[in-house]
Amino acid sequence: MENISEVKKIIKESNNIVFFGGAGVSTASGVPDFRSATGLYNRNNDSDYSPEYMLSHEFFTNHPDKFMDYVKENLMIEGIRPNDCHKALVKLENIGKLKAVITQNIDSLHQEAGSKNVIELHGNLRDYYCLDCGKKFDLDYVKSFNRAAKCDVCRGLVRPDIVLYGESLNSDNLSYAVKLISETDVLIVGGTSLVVYPAAGLIDFYRGNKLIVINMDPTPKDKSADFLLQGDISKIMKELVEGV
Ligand SMILES: [Zn+2]
Repeated sequence: MENISEVKKIIKESNNIVFFGGAGVSTASGVPDFRSATGLYNRNNDSDYSPEYMLSHEFFTNHPDKFMDYVKENLMIEGIRPNDCHKALVKLENIGKLKAVITQNIDSLHQEAGSKNVIELHGNLRDYYCLDCGKKFDLDYVKSFNRAAKCDVCRGLVRPDIVLYGESLNSDNLSYAVKLISETDVLIVGGTSLVVYPAAGLIDFYRGNKLIVINMDPTPKDKSADFLLQGDISKIMKELVEGV
């Protein structure tokens, strides 16, 4: 693919790259994609509710136990490891080329791989807090409960620090992401179908002429991409950083 060598050259020449990633970055590690054909949305569930509803603010408020059952069963996936895409991004950050990873994923795989500047638009499953007093908890604390965890100070309900359907994104995260994207020289967008707003609208803030889109399937932003690389993101990212 001739685009690969052109993009490699761009990466070699730039010290101001931002990576914006979606579910496809994690599927290569075995995390189910919400929207792909085999993802959560198309899985048969025992419950009468849609996955989208089970991950909504409303469902959490009304059925905290069922909500946590669902999160533990479907989102806390044991044994997942960072893949070559995560590793490639660590390399680019370590050699001073990559400014930040902006991700829609909540699985902490970027941090596990060693990335430092990671903006988690949809939150993460490492951090938890009490709805009533705000006390913070970690995953081990939450896992020690059979169902929804309760605060050890005030007995309030403890929730994961993820953005549920019906909730807005953290505004500090969002404005930091906008700043990074609007100031970056090279924007690599990977593993996202670019259909979920507001996250998808973020790339409209990019003002440069080196927008690189990497995806398995066509996206609505393919036409505005300066370089389009179609295929497995872990393979492509690995190839892109070889020798840089
Ligand atoms: Zn509390």
